[in-house]
Amino acid sequence: MLKVGITGGIGSGKTTVCKVFETLGIPVYYADDRAKALMVEHPDIINAIKKNFGQAAYFENGELNRNYLSKIVFNNKNKLETLNSIVHPVVYMDGEEWHQKQANVPYTIKEAALHFESGGYRLMDKMITVFAPRELRLARVTKRDNVSPEMVEARMDKQMPENEKIEKADFVIYNDGQKMLIPQIHKIHQELIDFIKHSINSKQ
Ligand code: ATP
Repeated sequence: MLKVGITGGIGSGKTTVCKVFETLGIPVYYADDRAKALMVEHPDIINAIKKNFGQAAYFENGELNRNYLSKIVFNNKNKLETLNSIVHPVVYMDGEEWHQKQANVPYTIKEAALHFESGGYRLMDKMITVFAPRELRLARVTKRDNVSPEMVEARMDKQMPENEKIEKADFVIYNDGQKMLIPQIHKIHQELIDFIKHSINSKQ
């Protein structure tokens, strides 16, 4: 079973694209959502975060104090690396277990905003980048999350430039409001299936 990664800048439409792949029967692992869940569920992560960032990282009811933690890591590269080194390995193992459990599908998808930045893309067989222009992403995210443009731009500026993500990808989906989304997804799905069939045939 092939592993396909989907990435793209904030608000590019990764989740929207993944929902279409799901309608084609392809299971999707939403790594960023899973990471959020594991940060309040997984004892190894909870203990390591408390040890490195203080008890105040969690509220008494067990919820993560996201504001507290993001203030610490947002402008501190070392602290961010520490946090990533706590969370990423657990999410990776969780994703692997999830992938192994999938059956009778040609490939699975792992959606993550920072596949390229984190190096996680190296563990994928194929990578898809979802692209949308900055202005459109800004408009979509400010509307979706009811946040200021400055907040979105600050997050955009921490991500790899879109042209680099395009260069590194095997496939690009243009979610720019101009190109139709669904035909692009169907085409990539077909190409992946053809690639898998071809790989199986050449091994026989
Ligand atoms: P994030 O990086 O924040 O997780 P994302 O890349 O997963 O975002 P989505 O959540 O899929 O992006 O899309 C951002 C917003 O834009 C959503 O509200 C979504 O409904 C909307 N959106 C995405 N694509 C389109 C489109 N082609 N037409 C209209 N709205 C869209």
